[in-house]
Amino acid sequence: MEKLGVLGMGISGYEAAVLGVKLGCGVFLSDNREEDELSRERILKLRSLGVNTEFGKNTAQFFAGCSRIVLSPGISPETPIVGELTKDGHEFISDLDLAYENLKAEGWIGVTGTNGKTTTADLLGKLLSGKYKTFTGGNIGTSPCSVFGEEFERVVLEMSSYQLDISSELQLRGSIILNITEDHLNRYKTMSNYIASKKKIADLTDGYLILNRDDEALYDAYKGRDGAIFVSAEGNKDSHAYLDSDEMIFNVSGTKISISTNILKIPGNHNIFNAMCAAASAIMEGVCRDDIISVLEQYEGLEHRIEYIKTINGIRIFNDSKSTTPDSTLAAVLSFPRGSIFLIVGGSDEKNSDFTILSNALKQNCKATYAVGETADRFIETVKAGEIKGPMTIEDALMSALRSGKEGDLILFSPGAPSFDRFSNYEQRGNYFKKIVYEIQGN
Ligand code: ADP
Repeated sequence: MEKLGVLGMGISGYEAAVLGVKLGCGVFLSDNREEDELSRERILKLRSLGVNTEFGKNTAQFFAGCSRIVLSPGISPETPIVGELTKDGHEFISDLDLAYENLKAEGWIGVTGTNGKTTTADLLGKLLSGKYKTFTGGNIGTSPCSVFGEEFERVVLEMSSYQLDISSELQLRGSIILNITEDHLNRYKTMSNYIASKKKIADLTDGYLILNRDDEALYDAYKGRDGAIFVSAEGNKDSHAYLDSDEMIFNVSGTKISISTNILKIPGNHNIFNAMCAAASAIMEGVCRDDIISVLEQYEGLEHRIEYIKTINGIRIFNDSKSTTPDSTLAAVLSFPRGSIFLIVGGSDEKNSDFTILSNALKQNCKATYAVGETADRFIETVKAGEIKGPMTIEDALMSALRSGKEGDLILFSPGAPSFDRFSNYEQRGNYFKKIVYEIQGN
């Protein structure tokens, strides 16, 4: 019987352990968090399945005899225990590798990038679902290990750089690299390490590779590659898909079509770009223009991504809690008319991101900016553009923006930083923001 190790009990580790049992392996799961910090329900389920567990520490002895160990994406390959186990001859794989080996699925497609992965993967999953039995998962929240036993024609995976770092078995028939901008430097140390991690998706792909034409580094790296498909939302007409005023023009693998951007409900140029990348992949997969249009025109986007909450005294309020990088806040700010925005920005400072890229947009697009959270002081010190207020709390920022705003204005909560200074995750932060908005009385 194969002994399968699992390091870390997040969603992916838990599902990999359950799949390991289904495959008849002896499963050994270790998490250095204490038992009472982890989901009781999951622990009971794993024990009832006969999974051996170790909590509060990770020891090499526990994994003795495990030839392969599923590594959770949240654990850096640089962690000492990973080094020690590698030296002892254990091989590390990801939950995606394990699923890939065991799931019956004809073709796998990966989506990565700094921003827009979830939206694009979700949209692509919906575009393919009309023609193929499709599973969409990965970083989006559901491990493909959880659907073992079912058969699929297509699997769409949202892949973070952390997942790419630890995946080596997967073979993708197509993939998308949306963009690469500064992120996760607390783990990668240098931008070139982070870029190398994102580019790994290309090494796992033996078919088409959809790329951002407007990112010169990506263009230079892949312009000669077989199967490269370039997408430009900035009108670079030498691309396979580009924007010509309101028309998305596609010339992908012999299929020439054009689709108006006016059918899209999701706001902003960044979402036009996400839609173009998803549509280019759908064209490669043989989905026809009419079917692409009918999905695009119905697609409302996902919760916590420039999500409309409510209008109070003529002021529309949006929740963009998923924005954890300055770039994504920039994209959100540029999605609305100039001069109408009251921006609430800030969160945990663990990424030490450079907010100055927001300077021009704040000056030109925002009526006022409110700096909140742990980043507030640094934000105020470094971004000296437009009217910036703070440091203050999210609650005070919201009330102040409502007092200052006029009918037709909007309030955008787009933190540009992680949530951990005050919340457990971006969902909890977004739900909290929505709750305080709903509690406000107004017309
Ligand atoms: P990810 O899964 O990569 O975090 P999401 O689709 O969840 O991406 O979007 C996260 C945030 O990033 C959104 O709130 C949005 O403001 C911003 N965003 C989405 N797509 C893009 C893009 N193509 N370029 C820049 N920012 C984007």
